[in-house]
Amino acid sequence: MSKKDVTFQYCDEIIDQFEKVCKHPIVEKSSVYYAGVDLGTACIVVAVLDENRRPVAGRYQYADVVRDGMVVDYFGAVQIIREMKAQLEEELGVEELLYAAAAIPPGTDTLDGGAVKNVIQGAGFEITNLLDESTAANAVLRIKNGAIVDIGGGTTGISIFKDGEVVYVADEPTGGTHFSLVLAGALHIPFEEAELKKRDPAHHKEILPVLKPVVEKVAAIVKQHIQGYNVDEIYLVGGTCCLTGIEGIIQKQTGIPTFKPKNPMFATPLGIALNCKQEVMD
Ligand code: ATP
Repeated sequence: MSKKDVTFQYCDEIIDQFEKVCKHPIVEKSSVYYAGVDLGTACIVVAVLDENRRPVAGRYQYADVVRDGMVVDYFGAVQIIREMKAQLEEELGVEELLYAAAAIPPGTDTLDGGAVKNVIQGAGFEITNLLDESTAANAVLRIKNGAIVDIGGGTTGISIFKDGEVVYVADEPTGGTHFSLVLAGALHIPFEEAELKKRDPAHHKEILPVLKPVVEKVAAIVKQHIQGYNVDEIYLVGGTCCLTGIEGIIQKQTGIPTFKPKNPMFATPLGIALNCKQEVMD
């Protein structure tokens, strides 16, 4: 294993705290709350931080309102986030969670940034920041150099960082949904059953050989994108990277040392919340 640029200490700490507050919210007075809304292809996550930028509450829900990074069910998305917001307000005992930030996949800003902004506002938040997903994830990972590969439900985002700045971004329409489809086909089970099986770490060892070719395909796509950028390290985020052993396959296929935090699923939503401000966007 090569040296790695970051220790994941901050990332692991904040995600660990977030997982705890999703089950047991911290009900203490805070002068302001910052929300991060991650409107994903497979999953919608809302993370709430207090005035000290510590996670105090959070919820996530699987939903089918976004495809390939684009909002396809506007009203469904608004309704789900509105409900999640109300539940979080009740849990925290606050009248209103006002400020939220959101993110969009690389390369979709001009097309879909407006839709995401409208969904967040339609759900009753004031939107204070709309950033790209890689910048969000890096608020938690804090890498200076290397590639962040975000394998979500519908897409894989690839962002290359040089001296802390994003120098290249791409988004490819392959993600965890394809993994579930492959699993369903191989095991002759319905998609929903394959999806649940895939999410259960107890099955990871048994299903990894079946999923290996799809992981290798994702890795080949990543390799193509990062060619010529002298990437020394790959950092994995996104729910699909929870798959035990995925990093080893990607490392082997790309030939580049590959690392992931303890729970890669919540890096982006927490990074979004960390970028939430108190100034409302125009
Ligand atoms: P996108 O980024 O493509 O818009 P998203 O934001 O919904 O999608 P994430 O929330 O990062 O994506 O990840 C959701 C995906 O992660 C789903 O395909 C889900 O099945 C998968 N996933 C979640 N938990 C696990 C797990 N423990 N093991 C394997 N896969 C998992």
